Amino acid sequence: MLKTGSCFFLLLFSASSYAAVPSVKVLIAKSLKRVVVEGMDLEKTIHTQHKKQQYSGRKTIAFNCNPSASKTKSQMPKNPLLVASLSSPTGLVSWGKHKYQGELQLLTNPGQESCDLVNLIPMENYITTLLSKEMNGTWPVEALKAQAVAARTYAYDRIKKGMGFDNPDKLYHLESSEKDQVSGTFHDITQKTLQASRETSGMILVGPSGKIAPAFFHSKCGGKTFRPDQVWGGVEEGYRSVNCTFCQKTGMKDWNYQIKGQKLTSMVDQVLKRYYADEIQGTDVKLMPDSLANSELRMYVGDRLHIIKKSYLRNLAGRELLPSNNFIMSMKNNEFMVKGQGYGHGVGLCQLGALELAKRGYDYRQILSFYFPRHQLKKAY
Ligand SMILES: [Zn+2]
Repeated sequence: MLKTGSCFFLLLFSASSYAAVPSVKVLIAKSLKRVVVEGMDLEKTIHTQHKKQQYSGRKTIAFNCNPSASKTKSQMPKNPLLVASLSSPTGLVSWGKHKYQGELQLLTNPGQESCDLVNLIPMENYITTLLSKEMNGTWPVEALKAQAVAARTYAYDRIKKGMGFDNPDKLYHLESSEKDQVSGTFHDITQKTLQASRETSGMILVGPSGKIAPAFFHSKCGGKTFRPDQVWGGVEEGYRSVNCTFCQKTGMKDWNYQIKGQKLTSMVDQVLKRYYADEIQGTDVKLMPDSLANSELRMYVGDRLHIIKKSYLRNLAGRELLPSNNFIMSMKNNEFMVKGQGYGHGVGLCQLGALELAKRGYDYRQILSFYFPRHQLKKAY
């Protein structure tokens, strides 16, 4: 059980001045044939020609990203290239119905003969839009603050790992998608997301050694969280699997269905080929007793024992078939039963658990110390 007062984070203050607030380059759209940007008093920089231009009043600027209409394929640059940047003194630039703070940047995507769109945005503005997408802008502010720290840590880690804040070669740091984390637009900002960002500004999680922790989060753990090595194989310091009962009454209901033997054998064969450089010999499958404590399935095919990560099976089966990695599989005759709970990869912060904890009066430090018991909070800027 989580106990009040279990928080033992050290807030590490330094007497020296903090680093400047970093900006994040977020990939917001891919493979566009045409990009139309609009804004007041727009400033346009065409990087390929070192040209800057200022427009007064409202202006719409269209970019054609289809080389067949302008250039031949051979004239297209071979590597992605920053072509143009657009910003406005009002702070907002529109792409279609979406308004963005910061700068919109157009990259060539030569492989697909199209453009990618990047939003260069100060970290805290990024966090204020993201909270409405990754959580909900109306949730209790302490849950949003816990999410703000986790998301900021994730982005900060990506920027640092990527190559440092100022390296212009890295055209973006992360994607606005489930691959990284989903960010929103200016319209996703609420009073609460502003408050959550302001009251945790610059705070990130570090591991026991003081290194930035890649802070992972997911929708609903369904009963317990996983360590990164149980799901992805890589070891990240400080993570523990924690029992979480707080998400059980909300979100996706527990799931329970059958998989035909033939279908499971075929999925297992694909997992073995993709992740273990192995393959199934034969069709006679016998599943060893499984439990929720196991992050791996053990099965005999013929007389060979195969041990496969449940998360690898989920990667292959997809989220509709296996919504989480928190499942148990059993065998009856030639049918396989799958029973599971939760939604998402299960590593780190459980968002629905954080919601319930905030409703019960826990603050964001206590929420984070529950899901990241060995990590500490640090003010990065
Ligand atoms: Zn949970």
